[in-house]
Amino acid sequence: MPELPEVETVKRTLNELVIGKTVGHVEIRWPKIIRRPQDAGEFARLMAGETLHHVGRRGKFLLFCFDSKVLVSHLRMEGRYRLDRENVPVDPYTHVIFHFTDDTSLRYRDVRKFGTMHLFRKGEEWRMLPLKELGPEPFSNSFSAESLALSCRKTTRAVKPMLLDQRAVVGLGNIYTDEALFRARIHPLTPAADLTMPQIKTLHEAIVETLGEAVKMGGSTIRTFVNSRGHAGFFQQKLQVYGRKGMPCPRCGTAIEKIKVGGRGTHFCPACQIRVTGS
Ligand code: ZN
Repeated sequence: MPELPEVETVKRTLNELVIGKTVGHVEIRWPKIIRRPQDAGEFARLMAGETLHHVGRRGKFLLFCFDSKVLVSHLRMEGRYRLDRENVPVDPYTHVIFHFTDDTSLRYRDVRKFGTMHLFRKGEEWRMLPLKELGPEPFSNSFSAESLALSCRKTTRAVKPMLLDQRAVVGLGNIYTDEALFRARIHPLTPAADLTMPQIKTLHEAIVETLGEAVKMGGSTIRTFVNSRGHAGFFQQKLQVYGRKGMPCPRCGTAIEKIKVGGRGTHFCPACQIRVTGS
């Protein structure tokens, strides 16, 4: 499931592969992926003739910036892009195909079909959903211990669901939230409002470091992504708690536990990540 580091890697790869290409036509095999405009045929008409200038990222969204349009794409669980020559057969999990004018096509493949695409006139994307309600980027100055403290005080939720909802900070999913909380020694069920300022400072640093290190690793395995191979095992060897139920904590040796938090499988060390209750 792609989180910020994986999406950043996909973004960098796409910038190496598809910049300057012009869309001849778009083939939509599963119209429900297209969320805006609602009519997939209209989406295809609007894209024809547009040249791609840059691929950006906001949170876990990819932003394909064309001449006059911006395509906002979320990969959700399983979405991937690959660039192929037109003579390469299309597999049944490919749902949207951007046919370029140079005999190549960018293919969006999504086994679970949960991904989304929204098309906007350039500039309009920031004022509308899904981008307009997103919180700060983790590597920007607008994400700080102070901004995180404000988010913590405004909520009655536990810290893990608060970090997942993309308003305190963007880019964290289930895996890197568990990793950041482990690094900060904070129990995932701690009410966010009960965190002390030193804990919030530690958590802020842990989020920036966890995501930053993963982005670096993604950057070094960029070719793996191009071929869409080896997706599993990607950063997994570096993970300290996620997916390690019953295995020894890398810090203290205690067995890692797995619980459900807000319906999400959550891994933590019961010795290092003590649950503190405020009252
Ligand atoms: Zn531990």
